[in-house]
This record gives sequence, C-alpha cells and structure tokens, in this order.
Amino acid sequence: MGIEFKKQDRIAAFLNPFQNFERTEAKCQIRRDPLTGRSGRLAHFIGIKPPAPDFEKIIEDSEKNCPFCPENVLAITPKFDPDEIPEGRLEKGESVLFPNLLPYDAHSAIAVLCSQHHKRLSEFTPEIFTDAFTNCRNYLDRVIADKNQTYGLITWNYMPAAGSSQMHPHLQVYAGQTPGNFPERLISDGQEYFREHGRPYWEDYLAAETRSMERFVASGDHTTWLTDFVSLSALTDVIAVFPERQTLFDLDDHALEETARILDQVLKYLDEQGVYSLNMAWLPALPGQRGHWLQLRISPRIYMAPHVWCTETPSLVYQYQESFMIWSPEDTAGQLREFIRQASL
Ligand SMILES: [Zn+2]
Repeated sequence: MGIEFKKQDRIAAFLNPFQNFERTEAKCQIRRDPLTGRSGRLAHFIGIKPPAPDFEKIIEDSEKNCPFCPENVLAITPKFDPDEIPEGRLEKGESVLFPNLLPYDAHSAIAVLCSQHHKRLSEFTPEIFTDAFTNCRNYLDRVIADKNQTYGLITWNYMPAAGSSQMHPHLQVYAGQTPGNFPERLISDGQEYFREHGRPYWEDYLAAETRSMERFVASGDHTTWLTDFVSLSALTDVIAVFPERQTLFDLDDHALEETARILDQVLKYLDEQGVYSLNMAWLPALPGQRGHWLQLRISPRIYMAPHVWCTETPSLVYQYQESFMIWSPEDTAGQLREFIRQASL
C-alpha cells in the first residue's frame, strides 16, 4: 500500500507553578504527512473551544459602506473588459462575480457569495455554494484559453482571522500557470507516487482511511470527506477528495450539489464548535495529471487569544511552515461523522 501515518509522542517535563511546583509531564506529538513528508505537531492541550471575539460593532460599521451589499455591488464594483465578458459581471442566484481590483493573475475575479452582509457559518445554505461554485466554474470556463496548461483556482477567506478585510462573504477566483506552493507539492509528489506504484496515491489513501475510519467523515457518489492527519489549521482541516477527477470542469451539477450539501453540514458543525472564520481552497491539477485527485480543503481559523488579537500563525507556523494543531483530527472526525449522520436521519 505504501501509506504510513507516522507519529511520535514527545514528553516535556517541568515543575508546574499551578500545582505547587510538582513535577508535571505534558505530551505533544510529531506527525508526518504520508505523501509529502510535511511535519506538524499536535499539542497537549487538544480539544479547547476557541473563545469568539465580539464582532458585532465591526459587522455593523462595515455594512454602512460595503461594496458587496446588494445596493452597491452593481454600482461600484469593476466590470469585465467587454471583449472578454460583454455582460460586465456574471450572476447566478445570489452570487455576483466581477474583476478583482487587486488581481492575483491575468484572470482574477471576486465572487460575492450571498446578498446578506454577514452570516454565521451555520446560516449558509447548500444553494448558496452550488450557485457560487457554478458561477466561478462558468467564469473560468470562459477566460481560460488553454485548459491543459492553466489551473482554475477558487479560494474563500472568511472573516478577519482568515485574512479577509471585507466582512461580506466572497470568494477569490483566478486562473494561471502557478497554482501555489502547497498544491504544486501535492501534485508533484502525487505524480511521483503514480509513476512508482502505477496507481494514484489518493486511491491508496482513501482505501486506508476508509478501512481505519480514524479520520473518515462522510462519503457520497462523488466525494469522500476526511480530516487531515497533518492539518494546516490549528484546529482540524476537513478535506473532500473527488476520486479520479482533476479539475473543476470534471464535476457535473450533481457533484457540485453533493459538495455543497456536505460542505454546509461541515460548516454547521464548525459553528457549533465556536468556529467563526475559515479558509477554503479548491486544489485542482491539470487535465491528465492522474496522480492528483481534485480536493476541497477547509481550514478553520481562529484568534488564539481574541482579547489581544493573537493569531494562530507564530514563527513556527509562518516561517518554519510547521502545522501546530490543538484539535485532534481523529476526535474531530468522530464528532463530525456523527453530526452529519444525525443531520441526515
Ligand atoms: Zn455587505
């Protein structure tokens, strides 16, 4: 099989001031991603619920001049070059898609997700995501001239803890030849595994995860959902893997609807856990790169200590690029699996 979930416990001992300076041991764990070898640490204080900052005033103030609210979005956001998209903007359901004023690449747009200025994670609906993903896919379909050499990328930074300066929910959608360092590593290591083993890493990975059930969350006709053994998030990353699919253009409407339905459940679970912010990214390959299977990755984001706006990206994470997890991927998968099972009864 070739899939190895490597982990090693480390014990740190100290005299604890909260226990009369008695000798105390605390455990942490070092893990390695089975494909890339990327390492991460699971902290001993796993399982904490992040305290939420009070966003009420920020949300209220930001709504007064929000460019993405319905009364402004068609008046003050940019329009596409008529030679490219004569309609100016693309709309589907509540989703409105227009050029990004701060482009990431030659083709770079924003897709407002919904008309409401702010939603808790539990207040989104599957229809909102189906419409927005469809709108983004249609945009990419129209602007990408050579699909064999261009990645169609969609990301979501939701709320300031995830790097968003706008409260109003919106996606970034862009096309280009460089998908980013993390996707590039996944793709190249997946391609190498394919050359070596004659089958995709992701086939073996899903088989191993489905057999152990340790990090298994849910599956449908088009997707398998898991928590990540070495999450990027300080909490737990949830990933949807699309077997034998490489790009967004490989997904039909049924696949997008299934994705939106399970994603909606994941967000409702995260909301219940006190999560108010997240990053989400589609991770495609190029057509024909069979060593990689298309994925959607959800990374919950928080302030570690909101009263001082402390983020969860210290040097360890930002400069050493080492994951530092405070939620157990295994415990989270068990809870999320049960949450989705209950919701579907
Ligand atoms: Zn707004």
